[in-house]
Amino acid sequence: MLKFDHVTKIYKGGKKAVDDLNLEFKAGEFIVFIGPSGCGKTTTMKMINRLIEPTSGSIYINGKNILEKDPVQLRREIGYVIQQIGLFPHMTIQQNISLIPKLLKWPEEKRRDRAKELLKLVNMTEDYLDRYPHELSGGQQQRIGVLRALAADQPLILMDEPFGALDPITRDSLQDEFKKLQKSLGKTIVFVTHDMDEALKLADQIVIMRDGKLVQVGSPDEILREPANDFVEEFIGKERLLQARPNIQTVEQIMNSKPITITEDKSLSEAIQIMKDRRVDSLLVIDRYQLLKGYIDVEMIDQNRKKANLVADVLETETLAVQKDTLVRDTVRKILKRGMKYVPVVDERHRLVGIVTRASLVDIVYDSIWGETDEEIHSKHVG
Ligand code: ADP
Ligand code: MG
Repeated sequence: MLKFDHVTKIYKGGKKAVDDLNLEFKAGEFIVFIGPSGCGKTTTMKMINRLIEPTSGSIYINGKNILEKDPVQLRREIGYVIQQIGLFPHMTIQQNISLIPKLLKWPEEKRRDRAKELLKLVNMTEDYLDRYPHELSGGQQQRIGVLRALAADQPLILMDEPFGALDPITRDSLQDEFKKLQKSLGKTIVFVTHDMDEALKLADQIVIMRDGKLVQVGSPDEILREPANDFVEEFIGKERLLQARPNIQTVEQIMNSKPITITEDKSLSEAIQIMKDRRVDSLLVIDRYQLLKGYIDVEMIDQNRKKANLVADVLETETLAVQKDTLVRDTVRKILKRGMKYVPVVDERHRLVGIVTRASLVDIVYDSIWGETDEEIHSKHVG
């Protein structure tokens, strides 16, 4: 479906942004390009719809060399979602969704029907058709940005950090929604991110780049199991790798030892600020001796903002925590079973020493922790 053949891009001034890229993907794959800022992700993506021309090499879509196509025609055959939401403020939602269908000269009625149908896909009613972008929340606007890329039903869609600007909760639900949508519609997606959690969650194939060069390509599982080199290991994060490897014993070995915390004497506005800065929706509360006191989340703050000022007034003290020497296995089971998003880890004196998150566990639970003992898993799940 999509093939890069010795593709290189050197910008004026001599910067080699993409260096001899060779890749091939099948139709229907969710392909995620990831790497540090400046490694050439956006350049690579924009060469696919010829917003940027390669210096050398060729790109093929369905066996056809795109450099031999008319670029305007090519762009109309490819969906594109950019980093900022990119909705036009003076256009209604319907007009925004229908940009490409309009360019393709679909009749008005067909465009409106298509817009309605798309809104339904993301559980938004047709009441939104005649509203303007500013009347929608950030998450809703981004959904519209995604729908716009789906509108003309192009088989290939490019997305450059489409969820980057969203708060973590909205981002999470949009990722889930979009992954389902992609599967059911069978689109080929090329997606750029710098967020490894996002890549692991969405991708069929992850492409890791550095300084314009391909470092590794593989499924999330392959990359977790066999990172090509130190760079990839570091990029994936020590925490995830330990989890993906066998012989894990205790929670302490896999936990993140820098949980995001606040002390109970701080104000609720300070709590909100930390959540914003660190992009989390809840904080662990400790006292000045590092003892775990409980947690506080956005909802609790929202509900109590009028009546309370301090974290101490609002925090939830009924917090389940695990000891750092607990077996990972048991912790995993606890987290998954209770639907918890994370569990704080404490030492023998109940001082907070780390956190284990659900997101970081789910992917690797079956094959790496319980993998060798299929039968055992089976009996535990049934029993
Ligand atoms: P990423 O999307 O991975 O952050 P880019 O593809 O935007 O990376 O950029 C890759 C490299 O090319 C960077 O070093 C960037 O500074 C450089 N670059 C990007 N666009 C241009 C341009 N128009 N002219 C010169 N250099 C550029
Ligand atoms: Mg970029």
